[in-house]
Amino acid sequence: MKNDCLFCKIINKEISADFVMETESLVAFKDINPKADVHLLIVPKKHIRSLNQIEQEDEKILSELMFAAKELAVMNKIDKSGYRVQVNVEKGGGQEVFHLHMHLIGNL
Ligand code: AMP
Ligand code: ZN
Repeated sequence: MKNDCLFCKIINKEISADFVMETESLVAFKDINPKADVHLLIVPKKHIRSLNQIEQEDEKILSELMFAAKELAVMNKIDKSGYRVQVNVEKGGGQEVFHLHMHLIGNL
């Protein structure tokens, strides 16, 4: 938990969000500014700044993010039509919230 991190506050329910999934290690909620019909953010509960900071010990959670994307795609009926999974890294990569997250975007 990082006190000044927006996504840590959402994970801790200090700031509300439209949650669509919660497990022991991750949450998923609707993006507040959706770029498509389906636009979810899949976020590990562990505070990791970006993909640059992942470590070997994060292997399991990183895999869980991918499986959550697969499951949420089915739940939102975009698995067959197709979807985009996107991770923005640092400012030059378009990252605005510095807590690792994966965008799941469907019905573009
Ligand atoms: P990124 O640019 O990859 O860091 O993505 C950050 C995403 O978080 C953007 O798509 C924002 O629309 C989204 N976002 C920012 N604040 C909130 C919030 N309070 N609840 C849900 N999504 C948010
Ligand atoms: Zn955080």
